Amino acid sequence: DLMTRALLYLDGVTVSFDGFRALNSLSFTVMPGEMRAIIGPNGAGKTTMMDVVTGKTRPDEGDVVFDGKVDLTRQDEAAIAKLGIGRKFQKPTVFESHSVWDNLDLAIEGRRDPLATLFHREGEERDRIEEILGIVRLKDRRHELAGALSHGQKQWLEIGMLLAQNPKLLLVDEPVAGMTDAETAETADLLREIAQTHSVVVVEHDMTFVRDLGVKVTVLHEGSVLAEGTLDHVSADPRVVEVYLGR
Ligand code: ADP
Repeated sequence: DLMTRALLYLDGVTVSFDGFRALNSLSFTVMPGEMRAIIGPNGAGKTTMMDVVTGKTRPDEGDVVFDGKVDLTRQDEAAIAKLGIGRKFQKPTVFESHSVWDNLDLAIEGRRDPLATLFHREGEERDRIEEILGIVRLKDRRHELAGALSHGQKQWLEIGMLLAQNPKLLLVDEPVAGMTDAETAETADLLREIAQTHSVVVVEHDMTFVRDLGVKVTVLHEGSVLAEGTLDHVSADPRVVEVYLGR
């Protein structure tokens, strides 16, 4: 069934804060190797949904299952990160006084277990950092301090730091907020490349960017799924138009 085939499976997820339902019987599925986009007006429940997946918030009801078998509602944040769910928050948090290279190296080090530290293969790790530098468009910035990068490049570096931890699923929160148009377009390319080898969920407001991603879009509203499909399909849905324009 769907639950066992999915990489991430949410069904009937409800989260209440003092009686207010931030998520209201939400269902959402990501298949292995799939990239998905989530949109929705402020207060729709996007952040709460990511909080539930990463174990920051425990749902009152519903199933949250990872990799076909792991019940995420019984795991804490650290355990969920270890399972291979990486989250990038909206604001980039790189180590500004370290070089780009060292930021990636620190991210790899953070996930290495103590035994692996004894035997770790430096050559392999260097190759992986090289590969990531290419993916996040920072090959010729490797020696620069992260603090000297543009806002967009910091976002890319943080995506690289996430990749360095080898996640199975990347949750990316508003990656293009504050980016230039050129950086935004480049970010869509970059995420499509990453999606060839990873499953990705992107939460985003920027419709041009979501169109560029070219993936299935889920519209959240009042804690549930209002519409799902291509961006053209959901933006032609009168209920979606009303939620975005009728307020
Ligand atoms: P979005 O990310 O789509 O803007 P959120 O998930 O942040 O939406 O919020 C959904 C709703 O839940 C909002 O109305 C918000 O005010 C409420 N909410 C979120 N977190 C809390 C909390 N910790 N306590 C009370 N209400 C909350």
